[in-house]
Amino acid sequence: MFPDMNSNIAAVIFAGVGFTTAKDCHRQIIRTPYGNVAVYLTRMNGNDVAIIPRHTGSEEHTPPHMINYRANIRAVCELGAKRIISTNSVGTMKDHSIGSFVLLDDFVDLTKNRTQTFFDTETVHVDMVEPYCPQIKKCLADSLEKYGFAYSEGTYVCTEGPRFETRAEIAMMKQFGDVVGMTGVPEVILAKELELCYASICTVTNYACGLGNGKLTVDEVVNTLNEAQDMLFGVLSDTISSLPDDRDCNCEDATQGARV
Ligand SMILES: [Zn+2]
Repeated sequence: MFPDMNSNIAAVIFAGVGFTTAKDCHRQIIRTPYGNVAVYLTRMNGNDVAIIPRHTGSEEHTPPHMINYRANIRAVCELGAKRIISTNSVGTMKDHSIGSFVLLDDFVDLTKNRTQTFFDTETVHVDMVEPYCPQIKKCLADSLEKYGFAYSEGTYVCTEGPRFETRAEIAMMKQFGDVVGMTGVPEVILAKELELCYASICTVTNYACGLGNGKLTVDEVVNTLNEAQDMLFGVLSDTISSLPDDRDCNCEDATQGARV
């Protein structure tokens, strides 16, 4: 049995590269004012869950700079869900081991030309002191510890892509960031604007440019993701089961007092 549109979806998973959807799932198109979004409704550990694959929702592959971020976030609201767990593949600029996990606690935005707000006719300064939901992050950390998987916390630097970064860029970015990726922004900002809880679990797939041995290849990234897939699925399943019913965080007040 699949959850219907009126059911209580415990969380929406934003799936990155290499995250294949669960075997038993039901594809559904959600209409939003920003465009249609393909979601996969499934059950994990007895919980209703929706999966939104960033890159493979339509028949054509969607690269990071072409993702309809506003539609994806708005689809979460249309589903009646309040919580998003984002999965991202990242390059490390520090000493994380390949295949380990990073929970995000902050970000630096180096994207260009991406629409970062839902509010085009009023000024809303959304608070960014704590971009990632501490309640979901705690549940993710507990699950990672329970499984004995290596993880750390850190700052994500989001680049525009689709090209990889230069050595000079990484030398600069490692001064203020731990991992680098291309899809975390503006998702986290848009989620905040709609007062949704959003947390991110990153899989370290490679060393950033100039820090590893030789040229960065897509195969390297995909192989690591395939190996980490089952681990990640287990962690997500366990995390969603352990989420308390009530949101005990400030995510639902993000735009309070922020309108001009
Ligand atoms: Zn929250």
